[in-house]
Amino acid sequence: MYDILIVGGGTAGLTAAIYARRAGKTVLVLEGAAFGGQIASSPLVENYPGIPSVSGPDYAGALTRQAADLGAETAFRQVTAAGRTENGFLLTAGKKTFEGRALILATGARHRKLGVPGEDELVGRGVSYCAVCDGAFFAGKDVAVIGGGDSALQSALFLANRCRTVYLVHRREEFRGAPVLVRRAEEKENIVKKLSRTVSAFEQAGTLTGVTLKRTDTGETEHLPVAGVFVTVGQEPDNAPFAGLVELDGAGYIKAGEDCVTRTPGVYAAGDCRTKELRQLTTAAADGSVAATAACRWLDEG
Ligand code: NAP
Repeated sequence: MYDILIVGGGTAGLTAAIYARRAGKTVLVLEGAAFGGQIASSPLVENYPGIPSVSGPDYAGALTRQAADLGAETAFRQVTAAGRTENGFLLTAGKKTFEGRALILATGARHRKLGVPGEDELVGRGVSYCAVCDGAFFAGKDVAVIGGGDSALQSALFLANRCRTVYLVHRREEFRGAPVLVRRAEEKENIVKKLSRTVSAFEQAGTLTGVTLKRTDTGETEHLPVAGVFVTVGQEPDNAPFAGLVELDGAGYIKAGEDCVTRTPGVYAAGDCRTKELRQLTTAAADGSVAATAACRWLDEG
């Protein structure tokens, strides 16, 4: 029986672990994919206060070590169900169960897919969701990045240093990402914008050979021969295992305010997995500290 179970080993979950450990609580952090969370896929972080520039993987690694050094226990487990017990909460991960007196949900969000036929079967054979993880496989080759937000722009800039040509494909005329990133992308000679276009097909011969793009205004199609496609079209939450324990909104985010309090006493939601205006590293870290402090107080008062 842990004092606090934390689901999700990203910025929010690990920050919560740091705060809870410093408050003397026993903590187990369960993570189904990779500790460090989404930011580990980001080539460069330049907007975290006090750290002018750091790579996503370096930041994620340092955060994970910080939590572990403070005594947070960790386990590579995908939580599949959650429920209440007499004394707290029970998490199920496959055949294993874990019990805690309080629960912090910091499940983040997963990469959104395009939903174009062939996408799933080409993952690892030309289709990727992480430029940092897979960019090196495409050194000197032509690739496409799909999306118009900060992640797509950062990925294109990262890949432009390694790949021959980076086609930046966005379904609108204007990018959604920060103007500073748009400017940097425009200044890169080997980033070629393909605006008002969507991917209508993946082409393959065992591995990816290219994509078909379709203009959103005229419907005209064109063939883009690329060895890699980086799908960078945002995230969506994955909170289904907790639907019986907390309230979700229409998009699947856990309903909780800035205090991270859910409708269930003893359960807190932190970071990108909850309803919020701004999903950033800073707000995830803030949520982690708020949720852990609230959980510790709830335990001490209980
Ligand atoms: P995002 O801001 O939600 O952008 C997603 C992009 O993908 C949008 O341009 C969207 O198009 C496009 N898109 C969505 N579904 C699509 C589909 N089915 N087909 C084609 N295009 C599709 O996501 P994000 O870039 O991952 O960023 C998420 C959050 O993290 C943001 O708050 C961002 O600021 C933050 N972030 C910050 C940094 C940083 O360096 N500071 C880095 C990465 C992310 P529309 O524009 O048409 O909606």
